[in-house]
Amino acid sequence: MIQISALPAFTDNYIWLLQDHRTQRCAVVDPGDAAPVQAWLAAHPGWVLSDILITHHHHDHVGGVEQLKKATDATVYGPASETIPLRDVALKDNDRVSVLGWDFDVFAVPGHTLGHIAYYHHGLLFCGDTLFAAGCGRLFEGTPEQMHTSLTRLAALPEDTLVYCTHEYTLSNLKFAAAVEPGNPDTAARLEKVTVQREAGIMTLPSTLALEKLTNPFLRVDETSVKEKLDERNGTQNQAPSTVFAALRAWKDKF
Ligand code: ZN
Ligand code: FE
Repeated sequence: MIQISALPAFTDNYIWLLQDHRTQRCAVVDPGDAAPVQAWLAAHPGWVLSDILITHHHHDHVGGVEQLKKATDATVYGPASETIPLRDVALKDNDRVSVLGWDFDVFAVPGHTLGHIAYYHHGLLFCGDTLFAAGCGRLFEGTPEQMHTSLTRLAALPEDTLVYCTHEYTLSNLKFAAAVEPGNPDTAARLEKVTVQREAGIMTLPSTLALEKLTNPFLRVDETSVKEKLDERNGTQNQAPSTVFAALRAWKDKF
């Protein structure tokens, strides 16, 4: 059994901690800061950090790697096509890695950055800044078409897949989702629930793909409600899903 928990970092990052209780080995995903990980290790004597999984090169995801490598013997996995500090294993699309005895499939999901990868083990997805709860990452390097393709690929995974993204952006994403689909009851219900959770300081992750498909406008660009909203705003008609996606992302950038 592997237990997954969140180590909060910076203002809205989560460093995902995977614990194998059988071996007392653990792994972290995207340690942008070493301090929360080192504090956890200090508070849990006997536990060994054996693996560090990186999704992309941004500082808030790799900033803690060098310090953690100095303090542990952890293996660093990261995308082959990006510069990742002290990377031991360079990963590309469709590679498979074994972490804490679990196999993870590697998916190339360009869009937020060009080399961005996601890690998938049946029922679990670590997707960095690609798919967020009710949203998606900004397009710093890739095109809307690339991001749309990447999100479509992730959305094709089993519906009960737990979505472990890096940021607590759910509430602001849902405010946008409600503007896109004011008539979507699932979005309204989720916005209400998440508003209460955030007022109480409760984490809104992980999400599930089933919930994302119901409420995440970026996974719903072929829904009539989303298409019509964009047509109404932009004076367009019957746009292809990737064009709707591009318009939606551009709207969110200014929302
Ligand atoms: Zn990023
Ligand atoms: Fe980030």
